[in-house]
Amino acid sequence: MLPSSSLLADDLIAWYLDERRDLPWRAEEATPWGVLVSEFMLQQTQVDRVLPRWHEWMQAWPTPCDLAAASAGDAIRAWDRLGYPRRAGWLHAAAQQICAEHAGEVPDDLDTLLSLKGVGDYTARAVLVFAFHQRHPVVDTNIRRVLARAVDGEAEPGAPRPAHDLPAMSAQLPQDPERARLATYAFMELGALVCTARTPRCEVCPIRSRCAWVAAGSPPSAAPKRRTQARFEGSDRQARGRIMALLRAAREPVAVSALLQDAPDRPQAERALASLVADGLAVESTHDGGFQLP
Ligand code: SF4
Repeated sequence: MLPSSSLLADDLIAWYLDERRDLPWRAEEATPWGVLVSEFMLQQTQVDRVLPRWHEWMQAWPTPCDLAAASAGDAIRAWDRLGYPRRAGWLHAAAQQICAEHAGEVPDDLDTLLSLKGVGDYTARAVLVFAFHQRHPVVDTNIRRVLARAVDGEAEPGAPRPAHDLPAMSAQLPQDPERARLATYAFMELGALVCTARTPRCEVCPIRSRCAWVAAGSPPSAAPKRRTQARFEGSDRQARGRIMALLRAAREPVAVSALLQDAPDRPQAERALASLVADGLAVESTHDGGFQLP
């Protein structure tokens, strides 16, 4: 019989305290703003790529009001090549909301956090847990995978199901908010470092002896194979990225001819430029018809 779920968290916390990565947004001195910035950056981007950008960002804009006083274009330029640059625009808009409506302080309740631009349920919960040490279930991809294997005995977590995932994580959390916070980090870290998607390292896992998937003989996934990720080469994302690189590098408006001249697929590049304008990442200059960051 599997032991109680709280013991699972206890073992994971002990392992986490020994093995955790030293990440600045997890440090005791990290501010709620630093945590919020990290959560925006980490949504689609790996930790090692986020680290230098996060440090630069926090040095340039250590508070929400510092960022709010900058232009959206400065934020998008500083986002550099983290990908999905709409996140930079949203973070800038969220900073303006925090500065104007919340006295420059990151809100500490779920509904107010959810009212900020670009903040969804996951990010809001993560900020409450990591910045304000409140007890809430937080479920990201890594946590879903660990729960699927260790608790449900499934090789793969399947599609996100908030009505299942949040109560499942809540059941794993110690009652004490500080230990619940550590447990959340520990589940995430196990999914990132040990219970990885392709090759879980069960031989070094701190909860191997109580993992339901291992106990079941590590059966393969019954789910249909997921489609492999769409190719980046030749994609609309690549076309958008090429135009964004030109806009980030320029301090003056860039002519349309310059933005499109090296595009291997001109109609695709025109669509990409139109989509960047629609997303608020590029604006047409009023006097010469070129484009620039907002
Ligand atoms: S024993 Fe293996 S499958 Fe189970 S939680 Fe640990 S790494 Fe994941």
